[in-house]
Amino acid sequence: MVTNEQIEQLQAIIDKGKKIVFFTGAGVSTDSGIPDFRSQDGLYNTKYEFPPEKIVSHSFLAEQPQEFYRFYKDKMLNLDANPNYTHAFMAKLEAQGRCLGVITQNIDGLHQKAGSKTVYELHGSVFRNHCTRCGKKYDADFIKNSNGIPRCTCGGIIRPDVVLYEEALDEDVLHGAIHAIEMADVLIVLGTSLVVYPAAGLVRYYNGHDLVLINRDVTPYDNAADLLIRDSFANVLPKIKLD
Ligand code: ZN
Repeated sequence: MVTNEQIEQLQAIIDKGKKIVFFTGAGVSTDSGIPDFRSQDGLYNTKYEFPPEKIVSHSFLAEQPQEFYRFYKDKMLNLDANPNYTHAFMAKLEAQGRCLGVITQNIDGLHQKAGSKTVYELHGSVFRNHCTRCGKKYDADFIKNSNGIPRCTCGGIIRPDVVLYEEALDEDVLHGAIHAIEMADVLIVLGTSLVVYPAAGLVRYYNGHDLVLINRDVTPYDNAADLLIRDSFANVLPKIKLD
């Protein structure tokens, strides 16, 4: 549970921060009703024949696109989800000119919906899709409204611009995220256990004053944190004043 002393420490860090960067994971979106890939009641305990980490892979999409899309549309296309307090908190800091941006492992677009302008989507976004044959772009509604495997007017299979297992991160996004972390004077990590590489290794580029971890789970960086709060950020951020 978060203590009053920790809230005061976090308030002081945020008050003096001029180049704050956030690093977010699935935990940030669970309050918006989007299941966490790795939690007990998340995507891993579902009715599907294969575990999600197998379905959401490059080879599975190539070999069993029908089954991939059955799962994807059911579990990963959360187009109606709304951002929550945590997303809004980060967007407000950016609007105040004190936040360099958000680096996220999420693919749900909720940071942008909350108003964040600079978002490094390490794992891509369900809102961007393209034909694997001709490259034509499609929006998420097209995918959602398609029957079975979404197909382009050219006949090619459309896929989301989401980084699947077995695939590399986008170089430009990765470099942008590294640059933001290198420039940051405060790095606040929320809702990710920092175990998914290479994304998790990004924290090593941080050189700033304060590393803050707010997470219910243990992370490999707990010992390196200047402030470690082992609680849900829904219990933490509403106590921080931004003005
Ligand atoms: Zn096409």
